[in-house]
Amino acid sequence: MLCFGKRFENSMASTKQYMTSSLTQSPTYSALLQMEQWQEKRKSILYRDGYKCRNCGKRNELQVHHRQYHINSRTGYKLHPWQYHNKYLITLCKYCHELGHKHFTIQTFHI
Ligand SMILES: [Zn+2]
Ligand SMILES: [Zn+2]
Repeated sequence: MLCFGKRFENSMASTKQYMTSSLTQSPTYSALLQMEQWQEKRKSILYRDGYKCRNCGKRNELQVHHRQYHINSRTGYKLHPWQYHNKYLITLCKYCHELGHKHFTIQTFHI
């Protein structure tokens, strides 16, 4: 019982922290990728791509890659990972994803 209470407390604390920090500074990118909104978006991209790497066809260690990054000109903030149109997202395996990031710079657009 004590354990559950503690866990609950911790999860509340992290939600609160996210909400407060989003007002002043954006949360870290890796924190955003833990968010439920991204998990849902990610799932829909994997489904669209047939759970295969779009580069080599591998079916495991799949990740979803952003082909472009967008900054909202009005707010000056980068879009959250799940706010992109599906056409800017692509399923890649871990290997192709890392390789892609090594060889290409992702273009950032002000929208
Ligand atoms: Zn691949
Ligand atoms: Zn990527």
